[in-house]
Amino acid sequence: MTNIEWTEKTWNPIVGCSVVSPGCTNCYAMKMAHRLASMAVKPDGAGNIYTTHYEGLTKDQGRHRHNPVWTGKVARAGDDHWHIPLKRKKPTMFFVCSMGDLFHKNVPDQWIDEVFAIMAFCPQHVFQVLTKRPQRMRDYILSLDLRAPWPARLPDETTRLISEQLAVAPQLPLPNVWLGVSTEDQRRADERIPHLLETPAAIRFISAEPLLGTLDLNWVGTGEYGVDALSGTQYHEPPENMSAATSQGNKLDWVIVGGESGPNARPMHPEWVRTIRDDCGVYGVPFFFKQWGKWGWVGSGSSGVYDPGQLGAFVPSPQSDNQLLAVSATNVTQDATIYAGTFWAKHDAIHALGKKRAGRRLDGLEHDEMPSPREASS
Ligand code: SF4
Repeated sequence: MTNIEWTEKTWNPIVGCSVVSPGCTNCYAMKMAHRLASMAVKPDGAGNIYTTHYEGLTKDQGRHRHNPVWTGKVARAGDDHWHIPLKRKKPTMFFVCSMGDLFHKNVPDQWIDEVFAIMAFCPQHVFQVLTKRPQRMRDYILSLDLRAPWPARLPDETTRLISEQLAVAPQLPLPNVWLGVSTEDQRRADERIPHLLETPAAIRFISAEPLLGTLDLNWVGTGEYGVDALSGTQYHEPPENMSAATSQGNKLDWVIVGGESGPNARPMHPEWVRTIRDDCGVYGVPFFFKQWGKWGWVGSGSSGVYDPGQLGAFVPSPQSDNQLLAVSATNVTQDATIYAGTFWAKHDAIHALGKKRAGRRLDGLEHDEMPSPREASS
C-alpha cells in the first residue's frame, strides 16, 4: 500500500536514481532507500544477516549519516516483486518505480522492456509512470514495438507467466499506461512537457510536486517553439505573438500539484496552486491537489494585516505578485509589518503545520479529479 493520494499501490521492480533538478533536493525515495539498506544488513536474533537490492544505491554525504545521496547505481528487485501485477487479478492503479526513475540512464533498455511487457499483459490494471527524464522516455516509446519477437527478449519466467496471452499483440500506445513528467518549476515545465507531448500515450500527466514556483502551463517550451499544454495549441512564435498559433497538438490530460513535506520542506505559495487550478478549469483538464505538505494555509486577507503569532507568511511584493517574502518565525513580524497596508491586493498566511494537519483543501475544497479513459492518442 502507499500513502500517495493519486494512486493505489506502488510497484518498484527497479530502484535507484540520481539527483537531477531542484525537485530532487529532499527526495523521499533517496532517504527511504538508505534506511532500507541500513536496516537490511543488521543481524536478526538468529544471527542471520540479510542483504537487499537497496545496498549500494545510496551513500552518506561526508559525516552526515542522516543526509544520504544516491550513488547512481540502479538495481532489480526479486522476481516475486516483478510479478506482483501479473499475479494480482483485482484491477489496481500502480505507480511504477516510486523508488527511482524508470528512464534513468543506468537502467538498461531490456529492463524497461520487461516492465512494458508486464504492463502490456496486465490490462486489468492502470500503470502510472512518472519521470524526470522525458527525452529518454519519448525515444524509448517511439521505438517500442510490441509485435513478435519482442516478447522473446524477456526472461523465461516472465515469458512463461504471460505466455497464454502472447498470441494477441497489444496495441500501442498501451491504453492502461499513463505517462507523466515531474515539473517543479517553470524551467522544468518548459524542458520536460514538450517531450511528453511528443510521446505517444493513453494519458499524459504532470506532477508539480514539490511545487517550487509559478507555473504557466499555457506557454511551455524553449526558444521559439511553445505549446499551450492545456489546450494543445502549438506556437512557433514568442509568447507576445500568441496569434501565431500554427496547429493543434497533444495536450495534458491530468495535472497533479503538491507541496513538500519533511523537516526541510520548502514552502509553496497558495497563489501558485490557484493559478494552476484555475487554468486547468478553463480548459477542462482534471486537477488533483495532493497536499499542502509541511506548510499549510491558515488564512488570507486583503489589507496586509497579518497575525505575527504565525510561523510563516507569504506577502506579495510590488515586483512580483507571488514573491515569497517571509517564512521564518523571526522574520514574519517584521516583514508583515513592513509590507502591511493596502498596497497589495491580497496575501496568504501559511504555517508549519505538518503534512497531516495541513491537509489537502484548497480554498475549502478537495480536488480529486482524475482523467477518464479515452481513445489513446499518438
Ligand atoms: S528523479 Fe525522483 S527518485 Fe530520482 S532523485 Fe529525483 S525525486 Fe528522487
